[in-house]
Amino acid sequence: MDLKEHIRHVPDFPKPGILFYDITTLLRHPLGLKTAIERLAVPYVGAGIDAVVGIESRGFILGAAVAERIGAGFIPVRKPGKLPARAIKEVYDLEYGKDALEIHADAVEKGERVLIVDDVLATGGTAAATVQLVRKLGGELYGLAFLIELIALNGKSRLAGERVHSVLQY
Ligand code: AMP
Repeated sequence: MDLKEHIRHVPDFPKPGILFYDITTLLRHPLGLKTAIERLAVPYVGAGIDAVVGIESRGFILGAAVAERIGAGFIPVRKPGKLPARAIKEVYDLEYGKDALEIHADAVEKGERVLIVDDVLATGGTAAATVQLVRKLGGELYGLAFLIELIALNGKSRLAGERVHSVLQY
């Protein structure tokens, strides 16, 4: 099955000059959803992953499905102020300005094996901040999985030394 056929390209969203890869059309397609989750999860079957960390918000959809498939739990990483219990924060640079992500302080136990999942790897800033959150809590990062990797933005360079899996490349 060609997953790329089901991904919608939206020019100039959320701002002029950005080509947005919209996965809602893929998620809507029953076999598309199933195939995407299978291809995301396959390297991690039997890898002893304790928890999948999904990045708000499309990483929640994909991450929870991957977690269920490989027999792991699920941990949300969210924008500041959304998590109800005590959380730790990581601030990271955007092209213009800064952003931040949070994880519950008790979400990862020391030495637990963690996989990070998101929909798109672009510049890698979001994923690199999430790696920091996992490490701050003492988690053992097994790797990162993305449905889409935007090769020209070279997000992998921000994740040097990590195992990175992407299903589709543009
Ligand atoms: P980055 O930190 O630059 O790697 O950006 C990654 C985050 O932004 C991911 O959570 C993506 O969902 C989102 N993102 C960045 N660029 C795009 C794009 N062209 N299309 C869809 N989502 C994107």
